[in-house]
Formats: sequence, C-alpha cells, structure tokens
Amino acid sequence: MIPITTFAGEKVAIFGLGGSGLTSASALLAGGADVIAFDDNAASVAKANAAGIPTADLRQADWGKIASLVLAPGVPLTHPAPHWVVALAHKAGVEVIGDIELFCRERARHAPGAPFVAITGTNGKSTTTALIAHLAASVGMDAQLGGNIGTAILSLAPPAAGRVHVIECSSYQIDLAPSLDPSIGILINLSEDHLDRHGSMEGYAAVKERLVAGVPQNGTAIVGVDDEWCVAIADRLADAGKQPMRISVRRELPDGVFVTGQKIMRARAGGAQPIAALGGIGSLRGLHNAQNAACATAAALALGLDAAAIQAGLRSFPGLAHRMEEVGRRGAILFVNDSKATNADSAAQALACFHDIFWIAGGKPKTGGIESLRGFFPRIRKAYLIGEAAEEFAATLGTAVPHEVTGTLDKALAAAARDAQTSGAHEPVVLLSPACASFDQYRNFEVRGDAFRELVQAITGTK
Ligand code: ADP
Repeated sequence: MIPITTFAGEKVAIFGLGGSGLTSASALLAGGADVIAFDDNAASVAKANAAGIPTADLRQADWGKIASLVLAPGVPLTHPAPHWVVALAHKAGVEVIGDIELFCRERARHAPGAPFVAITGTNGKSTTTALIAHLAASVGMDAQLGGNIGTAILSLAPPAAGRVHVIECSSYQIDLAPSLDPSIGILINLSEDHLDRHGSMEGYAAVKERLVAGVPQNGTAIVGVDDEWCVAIADRLADAGKQPMRISVRRELPDGVFVTGQKIMRARAGGAQPIAALGGIGSLRGLHNAQNAACATAAALALGLDAAAIQAGLRSFPGLAHRMEEVGRRGAILFVNDSKATNADSAAQALACFHDIFWIAGGKPKTGGIESLRGFFPRIRKAYLIGEAAEEFAATLGTAVPHEVTGTLDKALAAAARDAQTSGAHEPVVLLSPACASFDQYRNFEVRGDAFRELVQAITGTK
C-alpha cells in the first residue's frame, strides 16, 4: 500500500466505497489523514466500517472543514449530472480528486524522479499497460501494474527510484487527477465512446489530452496518430515545444515509431531502424495489437530497454484473458476466446485476424448489430448464434453466411468444433467474439469467457 502523507492532519471525505475507495481510505488513514467515508449503498458503508474506516453521512458533514473530496471514478462528476456529493463539494469550494491524484501528489513529494508510465486511449489500454509492465519486468525492473486495469493504484508499492509504476487511466480517472504528470504518458487512440459521461467528443478528447499534456519537459509523450483527434493533439504538443513521440501502424513516419510489414521501426532524422518483429506472436495478432505493441515499444525505449530486450519481451507476452486469447487446440483447430469483444468494432479486430472462422456470436445486442461486419463475412465459414441477438444476427447474415441459432454457448461450441473438424481447412478457428454484451446470459464478459475456456478445455482434454 502507498500511505498518503500529503493530507496528514487534514480532513478528507471519500465517496464510493468499492475496491479503490476502500484502498484510498486505508492509504489516507495510514498517512495520518482524518477520513470520513460514505456511499449511497448502505452495505458498502457497513463493510467500510467493519474494516475500521470511519464513516458518516456526507450530507450532514461540515464541508467547511473538509480539505478534499476523493471520489471513486464511477461516480458522475459532470455528466449526465453531478452526483449530490459532488454538488455539495462544489458549493463548499472543496476540490474533487481521485486516487491517481493522491498518487501523483505523493510521488511529487517523496520520489519525483521515479518512473511513472500512464496509459490511456479509447481502445487497447489494458493490453498496452500489461505489455509495458511485462517488458519492464522482463529486464528485471520492479514493475508495478495497476489503475483501471484491476489493482487500485494505492494498493501498489510506493513510488521509488528503480521502480516503475505502469498505470492504466480511464477518462474518468484523468478527470479526477488535475496534476497528472507521468514521466512517460501514452495516448493510444481516440474514437467515440463514453460520450454519456463527457457530453461531447471534444470534451472526451480534451480529458484524454491532459494525460499527455501533463508529461514534463524531460519526459516522453507518446501519441498514436492514426486518428484525426490524436493527430491534432500531437500537433498541439509539438506547438508547445513538447516533441511528442508519434506512433503509426498506417504510414511510415519521418520521426517516431511506426509499423510496416509486421516490423516495428524507430524513425529519426537519420533514417529508420528496425526494433522488433511481430510475426508469429499469437498474443499480438492484428493491426490493433500492432498499435498497442508500437506504443509499448516506444515506452520501453524511453525506459532504456534495447531492441533485443524488446523483441524477447514481445515474444514472451502471454496476452490478456478474453482478448483473442488462445485457449486450446485440437488437431488443426485453434480455439480463441475474444469475449471482451462486446461490440461490432471489437469483433471486427478479431475477424480481421483469421480465415476459416467458425464464429460464435450473440448475447445482448448493441445498436447497429453486426451490419458493419459485412466486409468480413467471406472469412466466416459458419456462424453459431446465441443469446437475445440470435434472430437479429441471423437476419443480417441471411444467405451470405451459413449459420445456425444454437441459443447457448455450450451448444454453439459443440457444433462449431464438429464443423471445424470436418471442414478440411488448414487452420480452422473456432472464435468466440460475440459483438454483444453478455448480460442476457452471463454476469459479465469475464464470466462468459471463463465458461468458454472451460468448455474448450473439456473438449481438448486439457482440463
Ligand atoms: P481497453 O482496456 O481500452 O478496453 P483492451 O486492451 O482491453 O482495451 O482491448 C479490448 C478490445 O479492444 C480488444 O479485444 C480489441 O477488440 C480492441 N482493441 C484492443 N486494442 C485496440 C486498438 N489499439 N485499437 C482498436 N481496438 C483495439
């Protein structure tokens, strides 16, 4: 845990007592702050109390005595409307911050030179974050991995020289971190997402931009420039004299890191040098993962890794569960769990990586369905449709793709494995990439992916 000493002797309100809120409370208490914690959910308040965290209804608090409100990232700050606790803080002129801000202040006080890599973007955050931590650890660095990816940042070891924090930041967390100043900041990409929370694309992009704009002059700001929003952000950084490291998987750059023919290249005024090759790395298939790998490579170079270490680290990256995860083989058949693909855009990334696909799709449908995937239909040998979306997807597939409505995952897998077996294809791929949320049949995409993996293991005999 990272004891937060910057609020010693001061009163701090905490709202939102999920995992990160409880950790923030403990970290502030350990550093000597006077904490009052609360949540709209009575059970969460009781749980905090049982853990020794002082709680009180913040509606009745004396806000004149509170130094800061530490908010969990899921609690609405601005959109669709400020939560009541935010409104109370604003009325009293109390700052509203999050756990990443607490970390930044602690680092600034005790270890300002400690390496701190912060990662954001619309897509690929978790993969890039995990990959950077893996690359750092592969050369023996003490890599602390956390933030939006799972472990609350304040549960990690404190910032120190020779220890690198690799932190995934959602836009919600950036919103709550006004002094975010990573030594290496990465903005992978931007596309429309979460506009419910930020109101407009401009607002959303402006929040994400803060993560790279906050990188100090001697740090490294890394920006993927394959979308127009990020191009504009990189240009603004350059105008401010910050020399961003640009990343592209779509074109060769005169300066930065780009990917061409599966090779990651470092370009500088004197020319481009190959750093690493992506061919044959199953955990980093596809152009989207090339973007993630190129961003991670740029970060690794900034951390001092050389090309040989980066190549070896990319090769040994196990990948993340539920994102094109190879979960088994039976003969020539490859089974892939891409349960995280909860919309058509994400499923497109997986469909683009394979041929001879036996595709399991469906669940709770999203607006637009799978119409946008039509270009990939020729790669699909047959589709097996599950959940609420089955009939709608069947109608879209029409006569273009053979399909069957199997209803449930176990039936879909059995049918797909049977057909793949007799297909005669060189490497048939049974792919769960649902293009749907899971909530009609599973608690979340992880539970759905775990179920798929277990079913696969049962038929491949690896369980
Ligand atoms: P995030 O943490 O931003 O949600 P993940 O690394 O968990 O991203 O990847 C989630 C899904 O997003 C992947 O399964 C893939 O479909 C898609 N994806 C990953 N990286 C990218 C990228 N760089 N560009 C576009 N889509 C991506």
